[in-house]
Amino acid sequence: VAKEALLRVRDLQGWYGESHVLHGIDFGVQPGEVVTLLGRNGAGKTTTLKAIMGLLGKRSGSVVFEGQETIGLPARAIARAGIAFCPEERGIFSSLNVQENLLLPPQVKPGGLTLERIFQLFPNLKERASSQGTKLSGGEQQMLAIGRILRTGAKTLLLDEPTEGLAPVIIQQIGRTIEQLKNEGFTIVLVEQNFRFASTVADRHYIVEQGKVIDMIPNNQMDANIDKLHAYLGV
Ligand code: ATP
Repeated sequence: VAKEALLRVRDLQGWYGESHVLHGIDFGVQPGEVVTLLGRNGAGKTTTLKAIMGLLGKRSGSVVFEGQETIGLPARAIARAGIAFCPEERGIFSSLNVQENLLLPPQVKPGGLTLERIFQLFPNLKERASSQGTKLSGGEQQMLAIGRILRTGAKTLLLDEPTEGLAPVIIQQIGRTIEQLKNEGFTIVLVEQNFRFASTVADRHYIVEQGKVIDMIPNNQMDANIDKLHAYLGV
């Protein structure tokens, strides 16, 4: 018997002004799973995360989280339900230091990670605790952005291309962090273009093309589907 999805997205449509970008996104995530949304530039992956968070001007369809329909809720209520979004641009406050950035987000649920715990997960950040946001490397900024959403107590995380532009050794570190979070029971939706990285961390992959999910590939079938993947991703 299939477990009930923690997050179930059905026929999600989304618009930027008059521009219709999401044309019926369908996917589900089980509790404790890591799934990716894979697809080319402009396929609609980021927009899907924004639509789930209530950050698009107009959307329709259904997004059920923990049994609750959230499609009509404002962004703040969706965050309070326990979903956190880490945007690609990271949103670090450059005039604040690492510790101050970490102290900013409001707790929406009990069980948000303490600063101590975040510094355990990201020892680099501990060393840089009093450094200003602008002084951080790209990798440190990404860790700070992830650390910050872990403060909120949300257990479902939407991560938008956390590896973008980072060196391989930092990408590995972020992969280990995702694994650790999964082991602690977090549920993660990861937007990626790097399917090699995706295959090191995820249970399943949804392929997004032109605002739709067109396929789902379990991680253990990535090799068998390599030609298909190349065609989907144009790599
Ligand atoms: P990328 O990796 O490039 O971010 P993506 O799959 O995440 O790719 P989206 O960013 O979701 O793609 O973009 C989907 C479509 O929406 C693209 O055609 C893009 O040009 C368009 N789009 C994205 N942001 C906006 C915006 N703020 N206003 C209007 N159109 C937008």
